[in-house]
Amino acid sequence: MSPDMNGIVLVLNAGSSSLKFAAFAATPAGPEARYAGQVEGIGAAPHFVAKDACGERLADRRWEGAEAPANHAAALAVIIDWLETALQGAPVIALGHRVVHGGPDFAAPVLIDLHVMAELQDLVPLAPLHQPHNLAGIAAAAKHFRGVPQVACFDTAFHRSQAREAQAFALPRRFFDQGILRYGFHGLSYEYISRALAAEDPALGAGRLVVAHLGNGASLCAIEGGRSRASTMGFTALDGVPMGTRCGQIDPGVLLHMLGTMGMTLPEVTKLLYSESGLKGLSGISQDVREIEAAGIEAAEQALEHFAFRVRREIGALAASIGGIDALVFTAGIGENARALRARICRGLEFLGIALDPARNEANAGDISAAGAPVRVLVRRTDEERMIAEHTLHLVAAPRGPAA
Ligand code: ADP
Repeated sequence: MSPDMNGIVLVLNAGSSSLKFAAFAATPAGPEARYAGQVEGIGAAPHFVAKDACGERLADRRWEGAEAPANHAAALAVIIDWLETALQGAPVIALGHRVVHGGPDFAAPVLIDLHVMAELQDLVPLAPLHQPHNLAGIAAAAKHFRGVPQVACFDTAFHRSQAREAQAFALPRRFFDQGILRYGFHGLSYEYISRALAAEDPALGAGRLVVAHLGNGASLCAIEGGRSRASTMGFTALDGVPMGTRCGQIDPGVLLHMLGTMGMTLPEVTKLLYSESGLKGLSGISQDVREIEAAGIEAAEQALEHFAFRVRREIGALAASIGGIDALVFTAGIGENARALRARICRGLEFLGIALDPARNEANAGDISAAGAPVRVLVRRTDEERMIAEHTLHLVAAPRGPAA
């Protein structure tokens, strides 16, 4: 059965207190963006916003008291209610979900059934802060859209192409067999960037890329021939470069010291590493680069320098992991916007062939490399929702064998 080309692919991305959505029309040329938005502040002070494909705000709603959507199912009802009018009767033919963890085995998106749900449930201990919310989103959608196919797209799947040495920790082998390995995250973003570059320049798509996804969550990935070879995030989304509030790479001995000698509890250390560290902890001001840059105090300057140093170091390490670099790509909130920080990161990378054109960088051009520099430095907007819509449409349209 081919998908109804008048139909809608609805993409859902359920976080701890937010439910983001994006609606795409299924067209023969692929998904076409229609609407996007979110309910944020679920459980506290919910706020619903919806925009059209040009970014124009079409809905903006807050609630008082008991009427406020109190959980993901209620937030989904708000979104569906609004979409029903906006879509003017176009049917939702498939749902695509962002799922943070696909464990060691899910190396590609998958149609969700009861068996898959059980497997995703088993992965909750690997991502206790995210996976339960993703699954709650799927469960809520399954109730509303009975019989409509649902697809899970994983942030970890893209990285399953990495060699064992890139995925393993230097622990006794049994830990790898028990799933204690480097999963890597932001895979949907990397996959989108890699495919978009390949479409625009096949030679570049076949080459060696280091992609820096720098947002509140931040990581970098080495991609060769469209396949992930190494990434900075590991078993959890804590590893790698410092982030808005997360510490990034840290000597595990520090944790032993905190838990042992310093007598900190596990919840205290967890909160410290996930919510109080990174740019926020270093600057003592904020997790937001704009506020840190505006602060003009020494701690802010040191936080930015630390961030740039660690990202620069990872660019070198990732280039080494794939034997060189043809292009460095910046994406996500910081990567797409923070001009001064991009320049700071690239300072000192001339030995790799990386040199910025200051005017192009300042203008936020798509290609910010200096004329004649051997390595292209690019700025690209990531679009994880579109990647999910493409996967979903592909799986729903794929001919299936006869039912067993
Ligand atoms: P998330 O990981 O939550 O999706 P984003 O990719 O949206 O995060 O990135 C958010 C971050 O991007 C902000 O916290 C801020 O640090 C940074 N950012 C956004 N716009 C700018 C800007 N114009 N200049 C500098 N930093 C920016």
